[in-house]
Amino acid sequence: MASTFDATFTSIHQMTPRVKQYLLRVEDHTFSYRPGQHTVISFEQDGETVKRPYTPVNLSGTDTLALAIKRYEDGAASTWMAERSVGDALTLTELKGNLHLRDLERDTVFLSTGTGITPMVAMLKQYLREGTGEVAFLYGERTQEDIMFRETLDHLSADHDNLRVLYSLSHENWSGPTGHVQTHLDEALGDAFDTPHYYVCGIPPMVVDTEALLQDRGVDEDRIFTEGWEANAV
Ligand SMILES: Cc1cc2nc3c(=O)[nH]c(=O)nc-3n(C[C@H](O)[C@H](O)[C@H](O)COP(=O)(O)OP(=O)(O)OC[C@H]3O[C@@H](n4cnc5c(N)ncnc54)[C@H](O)[C@@H]3O)c2cc1C
Repeated sequence: MASTFDATFTSIHQMTPRVKQYLLRVEDHTFSYRPGQHTVISFEQDGETVKRPYTPVNLSGTDTLALAIKRYEDGAASTWMAERSVGDALTLTELKGNLHLRDLERDTVFLSTGTGITPMVAMLKQYLREGTGEVAFLYGERTQEDIMFRETLDHLSADHDNLRVLYSLSHENWSGPTGHVQTHLDEALGDAFDTPHYYVCGIPPMVVDTEALLQDRGVDEDRIFTEGWEANAV
């Protein structure tokens, strides 16, 4: 069983209408993990222990995890989290999981929808610090106000010539791309990418569809790393 820690909420911030960011600090501890890996939070509710996986968006090496969590009206953990205040306590585990960067010299594509963006942001930060290739970051959401980390991503793309960012909206007509984000791969990559690795995270139908689309384009399975998120998937 993974070891657990007592964490304290040190900051809570509304990122989008449905997503809050939480900073959770564990005193006298230094987290060590591969960006993209997740922790499991747990708490007691109605006499039962509720456990859910969440992926920090910050890098390893400090006493704090930054989580971004979307609230579902009937969701046990996301609602409980949304009702917390600074100073409250929470139990969480050391980080684990198979989603992490495989090759820092390889051109890299990150493709996600919704809260599937969290491991992508963590891996992107690591790649921009340590990687040497071209990077594309494709993100799909419903409307502009739902786009998570837009400021962060826009700043990163302004700071890094090797990064291109594309947002696609499924429920709003705007000046940018629309529809399923995976349909914009050619437009985002152009001919600048040499046999890239693809990291894909979002709801299972998007992940399955993207894998099929990549395989149709001749991308070998061993260049695709995915995680499909749904309730109780871990
Ligand atoms: C490895 C991993 C990492 C994750 N990291 C994050 C993260 O960083 N941020 C984050 O917000 N979530 C993340 N998730 C999803 C998270 O673990 C929960 O599944 C989510 O917060 C819902 O939990 P809940 O207890 O609120 O809802 P539950 O009580 O489990 O479910 C209630 C209802 O909410 C709806 N629902 C639940 N999850 C989804 C979903 N993904 N899409 C659409 N509807 C849903 C369904 O209608 C469901 O019936 C991750 C999942 C995995 C597997």
